[in-house]
Amino acid sequence: MSNNYKKRVAYFCMEYGLDQKLPLYAGGLGILAGDYLKAAYDLDLPIVGIGILWWQDYTKQLIGADGYPYDTYPVHDFSFLEDTGKRVTVKISGEDVECRIYRANQFNNKDLYLLDTGKPGTRHGWITDKLYSGNNYDRIAQEIVLGIGGIRALRELGIEVDLYHFNEGHAAFAGLELIREKMEKANMVFEEALAETRKEVIFTTHTPVSAGNEAHDLNLLLEIGANNGLNYEQLKKIGGDPFNMTAACLRMSYIANGVSRLHGETARKMWGHLDGAARIISITNGVHKNTWQNREIAEAYEKNDDKDLWTAHLKAKKRLVDFIASRTDARLDPEKLIIGFARRAAPYKRSELIFRDTEQIDDLLKTGKIQLVFSGKAHPNDHYGKDIVATLVRMDRKYRDNVVFLENYDMEIASYLIPGVDVWLNNPKRPMEASGTSGMKAAMNGVLNLSVLDGWVAEGPTHNVSGWILDMVFADLDEKLDEDEKDLRALYKILREEVIPIYYDDRGRWTRMMKASIKMAQYQFSARRMLIDYYEKMYNKEPETDKATDKKILVERQEDRVTVLIR
Ligand SMILES: *Cc1c(COP(=O)(O)O)cnc(C)c1O
Repeated sequence: MSNNYKKRVAYFCMEYGLDQKLPLYAGGLGILAGDYLKAAYDLDLPIVGIGILWWQDYTKQLIGADGYPYDTYPVHDFSFLEDTGKRVTVKISGEDVECRIYRANQFNNKDLYLLDTGKPGTRHGWITDKLYSGNNYDRIAQEIVLGIGGIRALRELGIEVDLYHFNEGHAAFAGLELIREKMEKANMVFEEALAETRKEVIFTTHTPVSAGNEAHDLNLLLEIGANNGLNYEQLKKIGGDPFNMTAACLRMSYIANGVSRLHGETARKMWGHLDGAARIISITNGVHKNTWQNREIAEAYEKNDDKDLWTAHLKAKKRLVDFIASRTDARLDPEKLIIGFARRAAPYKRSELIFRDTEQIDDLLKTGKIQLVFSGKAHPNDHYGKDIVATLVRMDRKYRDNVVFLENYDMEIASYLIPGVDVWLNNPKRPMEASGTSGMKAAMNGVLNLSVLDGWVAEGPTHNVSGWILDMVFADLDEKLDEDEKDLRALYKILREEVIPIYYDDRGRWTRMMKASIKMAQYQFSARRMLIDYYEKMYNKEPETDKATDKKILVERQEDRVTVLIR
């Protein structure tokens, strides 16, 4: 394996979800980064991760007596982490900020180096306290630590790297440090340093909507010092004004990818016009099988034993029912159909869609013919997202034992919830879900996806074979309905006509679908496959040298010399 995969890669990401003991994530992006480092470990690939030690994680979000979510920020105990003893310094608004470097590798993952500017309450503790909190100023400071501090950490640790993989735009400033190094140490002019940097950077974009792509006022960047020695014009050349982190990464990398086939297309449409941008291909996300697939289910599947498969599935359901009983006052019936939905409560994910016309399913909910389990946090400043959570809590209170909302969604809840339900519901607005990964975890546990056709689903489950796709019954609906209405009608229709009758009356067919789902997902949507794709389609590809840029550099070089002479 490692013979073909020799390139040494440093992977930069704002968040990591390796284990609930080290909660440094908000959602899918972080879990993906954690799964990436675990698959790299399994395959023994020369990869390290760079991230930030978020002392107060993202938010511990609880539900108040009024049924509305509120945020708390306990400081975690990370004393189990190894302090490398190494330190690096970055400049923020003219002030030196020292970053400690910790190493995390106890979760069967490749080394993850975490930068830390001090605990909350200490002089620079405000920088690495909470993930995705604060204003633009705070965010820029955090990204200076991740990007500029991250490159300096690699140097300080003596880790040699062939490629820098920026996972999402937050790491853009790492490119500015790579440029600065070349201008200072190798005495290159800006254009040349940029061209050389491009040869060693890979970029993954995850954001399918323009508004989601972070941009900063150039003057603010200069004021804080994120420009890292570059001037206004040079910064503008990289990221525009305002400085768009995604555009900057596309201009500092030689190849980039979207995270599903569909999202690759969306990203090409969004960024195709951008001059000097990397080519964007598609590499679909995957999840770490050993982390997310229930062992007994995997074994029963390998033995091709339907009875064992159902027994293992029922056991996973019972574990979930007990877990729910330990956290709430609800007790579900493991013999009856359980539908799960857990994601960040971002409005585009439409977590509460199924409740938009409860009249239609009131009988199913009252009798417990369907039982629904939800979990998910809203971003602390997202009031719309919090309203969605409040709606789910209201339904939980209304339908007592048959609707459950679990507060403070995290990896522990996911580990019980995803394998412990029969159906995994997914109904984001299109084309907002770049990939989605919880459905992959479900699929490889034989939990059937009931989903819209977006993200990974477009290349995943087959309707009526290994899951159900809402879009496939649109032909039977009124064409004039808007997206929300159409999805809602399709959802109710499939529930009543397919999911419920098959679950209760045709166990043989249900089990066949479970097996088809596991077969479809367990390699194709694994992090192992994803990593092999990264090597084959990106890391091992040589950057194409751009003749035009080379010529331009030569000219600028000469001009540069001339000015030096005149001076
Ligand atoms: C897998 C996972 C996610 C991502 O789920 P999506 O379907 O991509 O939204 C988020 N949070 C946790 C805890 C997860 O395990």
